[in-house]
Amino acid sequence: MGEFDLIRRFFTRPTPRAVLGVGDDCALLQSAPGMQMAISTDMLVGGRHFFADTDPQVLGHKCLAVNLSDLAACGARPLAFTLALALPEADEAWLAPFAQGLLALADDHGCELIGGDTTRGPLNICITVFGEVPAQGANTRNPLVPTSALLRSGAQVGDDIYASGTLGDAALALQALLGRVALPADVQAQARQRLERPSPRVALGQALRGVASACADVSDGLVGDLGHILERSGLGAEVDVDRVLALLAARAHYPGAAAQFDQVLGTAWNPQNPQALALQCVLAGGDDYELVFCAAPTQRAAVQQAALLSATPVTRIGSMQAAPGLRLVDGRGRSVAPQFASFDHFSAATQTTA
Ligand code: ADP
Ligand code: MG
Repeated sequence: MGEFDLIRRFFTRPTPRAVLGVGDDCALLQSAPGMQMAISTDMLVGGRHFFADTDPQVLGHKCLAVNLSDLAACGARPLAFTLALALPEADEAWLAPFAQGLLALADDHGCELIGGDTTRGPLNICITVFGEVPAQGANTRNPLVPTSALLRSGAQVGDDIYASGTLGDAALALQALLGRVALPADVQAQARQRLERPSPRVALGQALRGVASACADVSDGLVGDLGHILERSGLGAEVDVDRVLALLAARAHYPGAAAQFDQVLGTAWNPQNPQALALQCVLAGGDDYELVFCAAPTQRAAVQQAALLSATPVTRIGSMQAAPGLRLVDGRGRSVAPQFASFDHFSAATQTTA
């Protein structure tokens, strides 16, 4: 199978929304009046972001999901994407399920594959997504960026901080796959779903336009990604560690639930146990593809409405403060100070497959 055969068979599909899809030197997208394009690229490298033997259908889903998550974080509606693919060989048994996982998620979000590039090389998948947001909107508190898109900047002192869905289960599943922790089979299966089939919070992101003051997606861990909001907004924050820990779904699914989970895995939160695995996973695990966002306390009802509209649970986990830095407190407001690093591909501590 040659390059063009491969493209035609697996990656050429009707693109009713695009003016022109696969087959020419460029694809053509019509920009709608009053709308802005939101554009983001993410690359997944074999042996770095996923195990080389990962189920290709899972990989197809995930490589688009991580890109859609960036659109979600901006409150953008997905339109289209391009796919740049380096493959060691044109293996149909790999390509068919890969395309299936990829295009099923694309269809779920009405996001059309409009072009790309295909070459021989070590497995590498790079996607660029294109979405749209209204140029004008109630959102922007950042006069320098005229848009209704949700930005990392824009949070104000006193804003509530929320996280969507669940956190830490993908990281826990990875620890289990690496043999560093043993989980009951059904708990592990559920956690593994979160690692392999993340649900980008596209509907929630759009529902939060005009409601949230700042937003980011959680790809590298809550501490790091909330950290981006703090930095871009020039503020600090206080986060309730007990509330965050409650977002680890595996802890609730554990036979006998949270107390048993903490006892068996030795992960009970207390200031003497700052490296507890569960906390490491929820605060710095990564691969969650949830949203972390801020909103004024006057928007609490609107946030709940957005959660309801998008059928996505959200939990208030803290508040924005003027003093820089992120402070972690327990349920009683006592300060706790664990050392957590979010995932950084170039830090010395993370030179293994993640
Ligand atoms: P060019 O050499 O002009 O950049 P190519 O010959 O590489 O174009 O690709 C031919 C067409 O196939 C282009 O429209 C390109 O966007 C599309 N294409 C190439 N690889 C992929 C892919 N993996 N998925 C979708 N479309 C692709
Ligand atoms: Mg060309």
